[in-house]
Amino acid sequence: MKGWKFNNSYIEVPKKMYARVEPTKVVAPAVVLFNEQLAAELGLVFEATDTECNEGVFSGNLIPEGAAPIAQAYAGHQFGHFNILGDGRAILLGEILTPNGNRVDVQLKGSGPTPYSRRGDGRATLRSMLREYLISEAMHGMGIASSRSLAVATTGEKVYREDIHDGAVLTRIASSHIRVGTFEYARNFLSVEELESFTNYTIRRHYPQLEGSADAALEMLRAVVIKQVALIVNWMRVGFIHGVMNTDNMSVAGETFDYGPCAFMNSYDVKTVFSSIDTNGRYAYGNQPQVALWNLSCLASALLPLIHLDEAIAIKKAEEVLNEFPAMYQQQYATMMANKIGFSVSNEEVVKLIKALLEWMQEQKADYTNTFLVIQWEGKLTQPIYAQEVFIDWLNKRKNLLAKNGITAEAATRMMQQQNPSYIPRNHLVEQALDAACFRNSYEYFNRLLKKIAQPYTVINEWNEFQQPPEGGDGYYATYCGT
Ligand code: AMP
Ligand code: MG
Repeated sequence: MKGWKFNNSYIEVPKKMYARVEPTKVVAPAVVLFNEQLAAELGLVFEATDTECNEGVFSGNLIPEGAAPIAQAYAGHQFGHFNILGDGRAILLGEILTPNGNRVDVQLKGSGPTPYSRRGDGRATLRSMLREYLISEAMHGMGIASSRSLAVATTGEKVYREDIHDGAVLTRIASSHIRVGTFEYARNFLSVEELESFTNYTIRRHYPQLEGSADAALEMLRAVVIKQVALIVNWMRVGFIHGVMNTDNMSVAGETFDYGPCAFMNSYDVKTVFSSIDTNGRYAYGNQPQVALWNLSCLASALLPLIHLDEAIAIKKAEEVLNEFPAMYQQQYATMMANKIGFSVSNEEVVKLIKALLEWMQEQKADYTNTFLVIQWEGKLTQPIYAQEVFIDWLNKRKNLLAKNGITAEAATRMMQQQNPSYIPRNHLVEQALDAACFRNSYEYFNRLLKKIAQPYTVINEWNEFQQPPEGGDGYYATYCGT
């Protein structure tokens, strides 16, 4: 891999925000996945024959010229409890400028211990890195802001969790890895002047339109609120459950990242949780908007000294911005759901129609993704559950309401095709792909699945194997952190 145009700016932020550290070398690196399309977007030159260089870079054995490896410091509220964290198993190689002028982070995940590793080994399992690759690329395919995955390299070393796994390193690309938790750390360990300098850095990087604004910190808070509302609405649209929405896993740039125990919902149920440790359902599908707001209040709290010298005034101003969240979310959620059934805008009758649909789906445990495809296809793609009288009645009500609103069937279908993915990375399919890769060293199924979910809006004429929900539902499907 060649052509890295490193341009590292994070090393200029206050020194307490990171530690210089290099990846730990691995014994037998091998590249098992490589994202050619992303490499091209980044302006990188990949020569398949240059195995030694590719293996070296993607495993952390070879530091590309211009890189300045660091581990970033951050804190975070994990399940509501404040902890000091930091990149415990990730190393930022540096930032590159893409051909269209974007600055992105190049990070290795699973690349060995850092000063922030605490008791961890700094490593990652092949299974979890493949999972992150698949799901982040699916999110990107759906048009949802996300970190990207450039490569996965196996290390030739074992990783010890509950079982013994093969180790791997993921090369992750993101607009940045500045988190809500990064600001919480900055608030704790930096002087107010340094906190301001770090905030200005973030503004320059992600919200340059706010540079020089008199109320820059408050305006940045508002900008992050706007980004997060849009992001969460998108998650709700496709049934994505992040699983571990701790403040350290929330990006200030508004991208989905840190794919740990995340998963997509099959049957519609707002209480859906897949994370093995989320016993109280804190991060359940339906709770995500409230959690996002809670996390944003942590960001607000970290920014208070910059918002106003008088803390009472600062709190009042921050609250005003945070109070914009619920209405903004409601409005965008309503429009998104209206779009999912073919209406360009929402109104009272559309809201009622959607409510009836969701209630029926929840009651019947209908598949979230497929139900919208059935509606889109007006009965052409059917399954027994959709023969229910209640559902047929609902379809008729929708048809009448479309007519009443002057929306043609074609216009509705066009609208729906952009909103409703034909493919999501369904848990049982993801597991099948990971099993084949990890136990049989076969990437054939993984790559077939990846191809489908990377083009999720492909119009289908009949059901195929990648669309079937698991027989008998997800059962006790569980996903894990730190694997
Ligand atoms: P996560 O749940 O993936 O967001 O991780 C939470 C924190 O634990 C972060 O600071 C990670 O860097 C750290 N961490 C997770 N797994 C490991 C590991 N195997 N070794 C060191 N640190 C880890
Ligand atoms: Mg994390």
